[in-house]
Amino acid sequence: MQNELTTHDIWSWLSEVSDPEIPVLNVVELGIVRDVSISNDIVHVVITPTYSGCPAMRTIEEDIVEVLEEFGVKNHEVTTVLFPAWTTDWMTDEAREKLRMEGIAPPQKGSADKGLLMGRLRDVKCPRCGSTQTSMISQFGSTACKALYRCADCLEPFDYFKCI
Ligand SMILES: [Zn+2]
Repeated sequence: MQNELTTHDIWSWLSEVSDPEIPVLNVVELGIVRDVSISNDIVHVVITPTYSGCPAMRTIEEDIVEVLEEFGVKNHEVTTVLFPAWTTDWMTDEAREKLRMEGIAPPQKGSADKGLLMGRLRDVKCPRCGSTQTSMISQFGSTACKALYRCADCLEPFDYFKCI
């Protein structure tokens, strides 16, 4: 006989789904999973992509389904919701710290992508030395979700997570 499934279980399983772009982060701490509910024995998961064009989103959806099935959930429904749009504020402070440890500059709270599109972004901090004397070398870093920056102080290039 199976124990009663709770949303708490689902949340903890989903925190095992890592982000394909940044494997050290999971989709819960990134704020991608918006809602989990169970009704009529169907598990509903609502996700919002970090940005609508993110090529990783399909993978995330597939990974979520895979984890649910691994834990024996047969009836599931993953819904992608684009509005309200994901903001960096949904990302936990722990997730930001993990990014920094990986040498990736975390997105700034409340920042918008507009500055980046115009080729500039204020105060992107170097994840290694903390300097704000940084400049963008390329709009695209190691993946489409990252931009390549260089620090003028320690001269190290680094990725800035720009999916905002
Ligand atoms: Zn630096």
